[in-house]
Amino acid sequence: MSEVTKKSQAIFSEKSHPLDMSSKARTFDIAVIGGGIAGKACALGLAQLGFQTIQIAPGLDQSTPLPQGTTWGQRIYAFSPSTQKLLAHLQIWDALDHSRMQAVQDMRIFGDRGEQNDQLHLSSFEAGTTQLAWIGESSLIEHTLDQAAKFQNKLERLSDSATTIHTDESGAILTLKNTPSIHALLVVAADGANSPIRSKIGIEASEESYGQNAVVANWLCSNSHLETAYQWFLSGGDILAMLPLPNKQVSMVWSTSPDNAAKLMTADQSTWTEIFSKIAHGALFEKLGHLTLNSAPASFPLNKIRAERFIGPEINPKVALVGDAAHVMHPLAGQGLNLGLRDVSVLLKVLKQREAFRIPSDPVLLRRYERQRQGDTSSLLWVTDNLKKLFSGTNPAELFLRNFGLGLVNRSHFIKRQLIERALGEIDFE
Ligand SMILES: Cc1cc2nc3c(=O)[nH]c(=O)nc-3n(C[C@H](O)[C@H](O)[C@H](O)COP(=O)(O)OP(=O)(O)OC[C@H]3O[C@@H](n4cnc5c(N)ncnc54)[C@H](O)[C@@H]3O)c2cc1C
Repeated sequence: MSEVTKKSQAIFSEKSHPLDMSSKARTFDIAVIGGGIAGKACALGLAQLGFQTIQIAPGLDQSTPLPQGTTWGQRIYAFSPSTQKLLAHLQIWDALDHSRMQAVQDMRIFGDRGEQNDQLHLSSFEAGTTQLAWIGESSLIEHTLDQAAKFQNKLERLSDSATTIHTDESGAILTLKNTPSIHALLVVAADGANSPIRSKIGIEASEESYGQNAVVANWLCSNSHLETAYQWFLSGGDILAMLPLPNKQVSMVWSTSPDNAAKLMTADQSTWTEIFSKIAHGALFEKLGHLTLNSAPASFPLNKIRAERFIGPEINPKVALVGDAAHVMHPLAGQGLNLGLRDVSVLLKVLKQREAFRIPSDPVLLRRYERQRQGDTSSLLWVTDNLKKLFSGTNPAELFLRNFGLGLVNRSHFIKRQLIERALGEIDFE
């Protein structure tokens, strides 16, 4: 028996994953586990590359409804240019209803001392780009990905959950909750922050709670938002972002203590008006005018997660992690999904450019994927984490440093340019 087989049997008990299941299992080149945007985009891209692909997740038998009308969905994201490039590559971008997306021309970030100079202004004009980002609904992207999947004959979608995974030299056998097992040469785990596949193949992940929840809601504003994304760092560590949407709407992401989040979730319109009037000495009202609630609020606990490896098992890997299965970050930079979609872009590129003799689970390819994703992930997690910590600190040195720092960066075109380049996220497919 080879070293590799010994190792895989040491990790997975033969009793719970009988090897003879593989003889009955249907075989695919690649199985993608997860039905979020990362899983949907990845499965579509792999099928477009010609791999016989199966995507497995609960609810995949129902297409996400197309968002319509004047009320925008609760899950709103900032999409970076790297995400736009991937969606264009997948032939999705032009099929989106662009009247439901808002291009962002400016970002204005304010410190928590209330001083005029404690602010950072990033603009598409200064950056030499047509926009810094787009703001839109998760459901709009998901609906369009669902439509494209229907026309992709190399892609099968299965509404089920993966319960166990067993790997050996030939690939992976996935046991499913309600349907027969699947064999695939390669498994892509896009199964979210608590990734069952990640833990089943023994990839450790460091996990830390930020001790905050994000309360999200959409508002109609009486002033024009001027295609600007606003963010206020507030005393006590709260962060309030107001992202522009079409039709004089903004999408709020307020990171705050769980207690305050619970209060915000039950606030009525007049309580919200009172709360907003106090934000940054009235600056929120000054910018956006009167705000009227235009969606039910929702609240999400905030964690940081980083998988130790992006491929596994350690010897003879057969699984690649993408999206939140690999990393979860604070939403203050609006980059979690964008980073996950850069995982997808890189995986597609590595597989597209593979040497003709390599199968998709060739360890050389998987190591290329992992190597290429580590730098981007580490630096973005480091920056968001440290910004979060710096703006939560209570000592006077931190108060001075963060506020002075904003103004300092604002005066340096060089640093601003670097920041914008990071936020835009370079990606190409050739
Ligand atoms: C308040 C807030 C605001 C945010 N704003 C932004 C933003 O502006 N921009 C941005 O880029 N990011 C943002 N993010 C981050 C973004 O929400 C996530 O990064 C993104 O949704 C992760 O997508 P995913 O596809 O990796 O995982 P998920 O969307 O979590 O999908 C996981 C999928 O796996 C499936 N699954 C789980 N277990 C199994 C199993 N055993 N078998 C089969 N399927 C399984 C689930 O059903 C689900 O379909 C924000 C996050 C929060 C909390």
